[in-house]
Amino acid sequence: MPSISASTLAATLLRQEILDLHAYHVPDSSGYIKLDAMENPYLVPDQLRGEIAQLVAGAALNRYPDPAAASLKARIHEVAGLPDGVNVLLGNGSDELIQLLAMAVNKPGAVMLSVEPSFVMYRMIATFVGMRYVGVPLLSNPGVANSGAEEFSLDMVAILAAIRRERPALIFLSYPNNPTGNLFPADDVAQIIEASPGLVVVDEAYHAFASGSFAARLLQYPNLLVMRTFSKLGMAGLRLGFLAGSAAWLEQLEKLRLPYNVGVLPQLVAEKLLEHHGMLLQQAEQIKLDRAKLYQQLSLIPAVQVYTSEANFLLFRVANATAIFSGLKQRGVLIKNLNGAHPMLKDCLRVTVGTPEENGRFMAALLESLCHG
Ligand code: PMP
Repeated sequence: MPSISASTLAATLLRQEILDLHAYHVPDSSGYIKLDAMENPYLVPDQLRGEIAQLVAGAALNRYPDPAAASLKARIHEVAGLPDGVNVLLGNGSDELIQLLAMAVNKPGAVMLSVEPSFVMYRMIATFVGMRYVGVPLLSNPGVANSGAEEFSLDMVAILAAIRRERPALIFLSYPNNPTGNLFPADDVAQIIEASPGLVVVDEAYHAFASGSFAARLLQYPNLLVMRTFSKLGMAGLRLGFLAGSAAWLEQLEKLRLPYNVGVLPQLVAEKLLEHHGMLLQQAEQIKLDRAKLYQQLSLIPAVQVYTSEANFLLFRVANATAIFSGLKQRGVLIKNLNGAHPMLKDCLRVTVGTPEENGRFMAALLESLCHG
C-alpha cells in the first residue's frame, strides 16, 4: 500500500462530482420539538404496539426477507386505490426508487429534469449516478406572496421549451412540491406528461395531505409512473416507498432492485399498520386541520409571509430567517432553514405540522424570536 493518507487517496480515486457534493445534512434533533423533517408526530396507538411487538418477536430474523413481498404489495395496491392492471415496486424509502430510476435510464447523455426549488434529492441522485440534471426555475413573484397564488407555480413556457431542447429521459414532479407546499395545476402536469418523450414520475410523497393524484391516470399515459412513500404517514422509521405503474415498466425496473431491499421487519410492521389504514388517514386529516390553523395563525403575523400548502408542512418567509431559525432552536424548536438553499428561497423557513401542542410551542417560540431575536 502506498504511504499516502486516506484523504489524499480518496481525493485521487473518487469522482470529482462526488468530491464536490455536500452530504445531505441531517441535524442532531435530540431534545428538540422536531418539526424539520415532515414526519407524522403521532406514535402508533398502544394496543397496536402490543400486536407489533408480538409480530416482531415471532419474526424469522435469521432468514432473508420475502423478495417479492407479495402480501405487502397486495395490501398497498388496495389501500392506495390503484387501478387494476397497475403494478407496484417497493423501495427502501422513495429515495431509493429515485436512484433506481436514474440508474435505469442513464444512457450516455441522458438528462433528468425537474423544477427548482424542489426536492433536493433529484439533483443529488442525478449527480450520484453521473446523469446530467436540468432544473427549470418555478415562477417567482414575491409581490403576491401572501395570496400564495403565483409564486412557485410552474413556468410552463420554460418547461415545455426545456423538454423540446433537452429531451429528458426522466422528469420528476413533486406533487405537491417540497419545499414550497403547492400542488401544481393538474392540467399543467398532464401537459408535461403529454409533451415529454421520456418517463415522467409524479412524486406523491405528500399524497395523504393533498387534494389531487395522478394514480387514476396511470394506464392512460405510457410514460407515467406515480411514486409514494409511507414516511409521511407515520412510518418514516420503516423506510418504505413504492412506485406504481404498468407491468411493462415495473418488470424492467424490478431487475435493478436489490433483492432484499425491504427487510423482514419493515415488511411485517408495514403490513400490520396498513391493516389500520383508516387510522393513519385519520391522523392525516387531523394534520390537515392543524395545518389550516397554523396557516391562519402565521398569516396574522405581519412580519411573516406564509404560503398555502397541500402537504404536511408550511413554507414561510420572514426577514432574517437564519436569525429566526436560531431563535427557534434556542427555544427548543427545530424547523428547516431554507435560506441559502436556492435564491428563490431567500429568507424562507419550513415548518412541519406537528401535534396541536407542538404547533403551539412553535408559534410561541416564533413570536418570541420575532420580538427578541
Ligand atoms: N419525495 C419527496 C418530494 C420528499 O419530500 C421526500 C422526503 N422528504 C421523498 C421523496 C423521500 O421520502 P422517503 O425516502 O422517506 O420515502
